[in-house]
Amino acid sequence: MPSFAESEPPSELEPAGEMRAWEAGAMDSAGTGATGPAPVWGELFEGALEAMLMADPDGYYVGANSAAAALFGLPRQALIGRRMSDFLPPDADFEVSWQRFLALGQARGELQLVRQNGSVQAVEFAATAQVYPNRHLLILRDITDRKRVEAERDALAQQLQQQVAQNAEQLRQAETALRSQQQHIDSILNSLQCVVWSVNPITLETTYANAAAEVLYGYPVAAFLADANLWLNCVYAEDRPLILQDVTLLLKGNKTDRTYRIVRADGEMRWVRGQARLVRDGAGNPLRIDGTTTDISDWAQLEANRRRTELALKDTQATQQAILENIPDLLMRINSDGYILDLISGGEVTLYGAIPGGRTQSVYVNFPQDLADQRMHYVRLALDTSSQQRYEHTLEIDGQLCYEESRVVPINDTEVLVIVRDITERKQAEATQAELTQKLQLINTKLNRLATIDGLTQIANRRSFDQALDLEWQRARRQQQPLSLIFCDIDCFKSYNDNYGHLAGDDCLRQVAQVLTTLVRRPGDLAARYGGEEFVLLLPNTTLPGAIQMVEQVQAAIAQRHLPHAYSPVSPILTLSFGLVCHCPGVQEHSPRELIHQADLALYEAKAQGRDRYVVGAISL
Ligand code: GH3
Ligand code: MG
Ligand code: MG
Repeated sequence: MPSFAESEPPSELEPAGEMRAWEAGAMDSAGTGATGPAPVWGELFEGALEAMLMADPDGYYVGANSAAAALFGLPRQALIGRRMSDFLPPDADFEVSWQRFLALGQARGELQLVRQNGSVQAVEFAATAQVYPNRHLLILRDITDRKRVEAERDALAQQLQQQVAQNAEQLRQAETALRSQQQHIDSILNSLQCVVWSVNPITLETTYANAAAEVLYGYPVAAFLADANLWLNCVYAEDRPLILQDVTLLLKGNKTDRTYRIVRADGEMRWVRGQARLVRDGAGNPLRIDGTTTDISDWAQLEANRRRTELALKDTQATQQAILENIPDLLMRINSDGYILDLISGGEVTLYGAIPGGRTQSVYVNFPQDLADQRMHYVRLALDTSSQQRYEHTLEIDGQLCYEESRVVPINDTEVLVIVRDITERKQAEATQAELTQKLQLINTKLNRLATIDGLTQIANRRSFDQALDLEWQRARRQQQPLSLIFCDIDCFKSYNDNYGHLAGDDCLRQVAQVLTTLVRRPGDLAARYGGEEFVLLLPNTTLPGAIQMVEQVQAAIAQRHLPHAYSPVSPILTLSFGLVCHCPGVQEHSPRELIHQADLALYEAKAQGRDRYVVGAISL
């Protein structure tokens, strides 16, 4: 093997030394059995771009071209006699590969070529066995660049793959985050009590509604998404024009805020407040209308109640104000220590003038001492007894007597309300009234007297007698007492008048009356002028003997007066005739009228018997 070069023909292309590495016929000398001259491998391969090497059955190189020398980084000649195992990494198992190659007749693959300078080249190889007897051809191609590019490509691909994987993960995370965010938003939207919705601005189809829609309207959310008209149909018919008007406003870009009514699926009407706005796309075209609808029925109800209460309160306040402004009373809240806590109404305080301040000052500050003492007495009394107190107070102002009335009403354990009223006018009116009443009483007494007293004689008249008789007659019956009645008539009085004159007659009548009243003195006894010159004596609880005794007393008294009656045929002095009756107990059938009648009859009888005497009526006998 060492001497091939000497027999190899020289070449113009190769340095002479190297050319000797190519030996023709050396194979034969090596006993390969090949016939004919061996080709000169160097020349044969020299034109090839690929590195080409010819190896003997043990893999030792017997020829190599310049490309191979360049690849191995050695002179061509230095390759002769060496084999691939000399250039492989230590771990490569060349022998096994070589034997398999020989068995198969060819091999292809890649290997790592460790060059003389230690650098490693990636090499692609193709080997064909027995291209010439006992000669095996090995073609090598430097694929370092390709490998590097491939490695770079692989690295890039890997990087890309990693990037894609990373992006995919990020995307997945973003999607997860988005989904969770969406769920979060949905959860928030669905937990809202107000309805949140989106509609197509042109078709008014509902594109979104939260769960509150079902609560408010009573229809499932899906029903709104399926039926474009459902939403508008739920609006109370009267309010629909307003809502359509709002849609027009919304399309012009305005926001809307409207209170209106809806009718639920169950027919119930509710008040709602709807707020909405238009959303545009990037090009400024209407995209959707977003809005909220809130059930304000309770609020509307409360608001209506509040307004009613407010109005009522205003009325009440105005009324109270008017009352407070117009009542002339002074209202004070006073505590048990005598402090005015509130001067509720100054009103027209005529007695003291205006009271300054009015808050938390003592009752002794603006009021006279005696009045304040009296006031505090009743304040304590009202608080002690928990009952209203009332008192009056007299004051002298500018020489005139004035009066006030105070009422003290307990408010709680320590405070009272004092209502002070100027009652001067009332008092004056009362005084005038009392005066008038007194006068009236006097007049009435006079009238009464005139009605019951005889004007001429000033003794009881016929009317008085009638009343007294009825009364005494009833009493006599009740008490089973006797009752006597005496009629007295002046004898021949006509001639008295005729002779002495009428005025003398009057005077005579007065004298007779005086005699009668002087004698009739027992309680219940009555002397009355019955009419003309006729008198009557009513004697309760008097028996017939008692009555007779009375008649005799009258006769005696008249006689004692010695009133001359010169023209009387009976006597020169005035005389009287009497008819008397006694109503006795146990006699039930008589009436007062009958009693009079009997007495009259008796009198008539006395006259008839000659006058100046008495006759007892039949009833008494
Ligand atoms: P007799 O004895 O029968 O009673 O006779 P008489 O004249 O008294 O009785 P008569 O009835 O005939 O007359 C009553 C007179 O009394 C008539 C009248 O002029 C008179 N007389 C009645 N009332 C008054 C009076 O008020 N004043 C005066 N002066 N005379 C009176
Ligand atoms: Mg007479
Ligand atoms: Mg007479």
